[in-house]
Amino acid sequence: MTAALIDSFGRMHNNLRISVTDRCNLRCVYCMPEEVTFFDRRELLTFEEISRFVRIAAPLGIDKIRITGGEPLLRRELPRLVELLVAVPGIRDVGLTTNALLLEAQAKPLFDAGLRRLNVSLDTLDPARFRQLTRRDGLEQTLRGIEAAQRAGFTRIKVNAVIMRGINDVDVGPLARHARQRGWEMRFIEYMPIGAEAWEREKVFFAHEILEAIEREVAPLAPAEDYDPRAPAMDFCYSDGGRVGIIASVSRPFCHRCNRLRLTCDGKLRNCLFALDEVDIKDLLRSNCDDQWIVERLRENVAAKWEGHEINTARFVKPLRTMHAIGG
Ligand code: SAM
Ligand code: SF4
Repeated sequence: MTAALIDSFGRMHNNLRISVTDRCNLRCVYCMPEEVTFFDRRELLTFEEISRFVRIAAPLGIDKIRITGGEPLLRRELPRLVELLVAVPGIRDVGLTTNALLLEAQAKPLFDAGLRRLNVSLDTLDPARFRQLTRRDGLEQTLRGIEAAQRAGFTRIKVNAVIMRGINDVDVGPLARHARQRGWEMRFIEYMPIGAEAWEREKVFFAHEILEAIEREVAPLAPAEDYDPRAPAMDFCYSDGGRVGIIASVSRPFCHRCNRLRLTCDGKLRNCLFALDEVDIKDLLRSNCDDQWIVERLRENVAAKWEGHEINTARFVKPLRTMHAIGG
């Protein structure tokens, strides 16, 4: 491996999130607006362009990839991208984040292509609140998708729920209980200012409140023994070994341990979810420049990474892109 991707705060970057589309079959209120102009297909990186970038980044220490979107299962032939990525020397971990609406049909082909890690987003078990949060129907389809993934061979499926006060905070207990019964690892996420709607701090249901709700309504939790300080989730265990994670991006930012970079579906490199600047990787990939030139732009982008997102300060500036066009 050549010199690693280390920024000016000493953070080593090994984790790349790749968005494959900005389209989505839901319209989650915390993520995107109802009306959107999506990128033209020609604007999207091809699978070959994505895998070339990953081949360039892997020798610099990128070994963990997560495919995301928008809704990644809307991108045609996604298993082919998984095959390309798992074959890149140095890549040891390829995961996917999906709303699972299309997972029933795609779980097996994705597993067969080499995908092993799956995160599914599901914020409630109540059909009316599902519609309120996602502006669409689809709860039953999502649940069928998760079951199909379990049948296809995915183990330790993580189910992500964004919790908004006054909307689905009542779902923390039921989701945790349901997940515990089915062997899913539930991960509760604090609501961040990255969606289309004006963010209100009052709507953040904080990590300690999530923890209290689970302990009150489900069972006591203890910190997990293999707690990974580099991982964004604070991991907890039930006494029988079941796990719950809490991603406290607002009340307990993990910026000082951040190891992530993001490549948007239109080929822009972002060194932070909340970054205001991007590097146009697509332009470089489509020009005649050699790999070394791209390595240098990648290094510059990592070196320029700021200390943290500043959500909790008056200096915070919300990026123009909303989550669906960045890749969560
Ligand atoms: N469509 C896929 C899905 O929903 O799983 C993948 C893309 S989605 C943008 C990735 C993750 O970002 C989801 O788990 C979603 O809940 C999370 N997310 C979106 N907007 C968020 C927000 N404002 N605060 C916290 N998490 C958010
Ligand atoms: Fe779509 Fe995922 Fe955003 Fe919901 S969170 S609108 S499923 S991209």
